[in-house]
Amino acid sequence: MKFKKGHKINKGRKLTAEHKKKISESHLREKHPNWKGGKRLQNGYFYILIEGNYIREHRYLMEKFIGRKLEPNEMVHHINGIKTDNRLGNLQIVDIVEHGRIHGGQHGGKN
Ligand SMILES: [Zn+2]
Repeated sequence: MKFKKGHKINKGRKLTAEHKKKISESHLREKHPNWKGGKRLQNGYFYILIEGNYIREHRYLMEKFIGRKLEPNEMVHHINGIKTDNRLGNLQIVDIVEHGRIHGGQHGGKN
């Protein structure tokens, strides 16, 4: 198929300067305080839009901070109990079992 072949060639090409500029512009747009399209409040947590999926912001921030993906048994706990306070100083990685203990064993699967 002609289209598929062309697609493969494009994949191997390096980003043009214009393409890079577009990417950096879209990053700026996400940081813009008036642009609310990429962030929403749900179940008491902030969710942000990353590559088309809404993910919990506190987990995303922690993954960026530690430079790797969180393991399934790693919970990101809000130290002061405020689930919308996603400052790094308020976030702490705890084991899922330990996290359950912190919350009195009532909702170990949540942060
Ligand atoms: Zn917690």
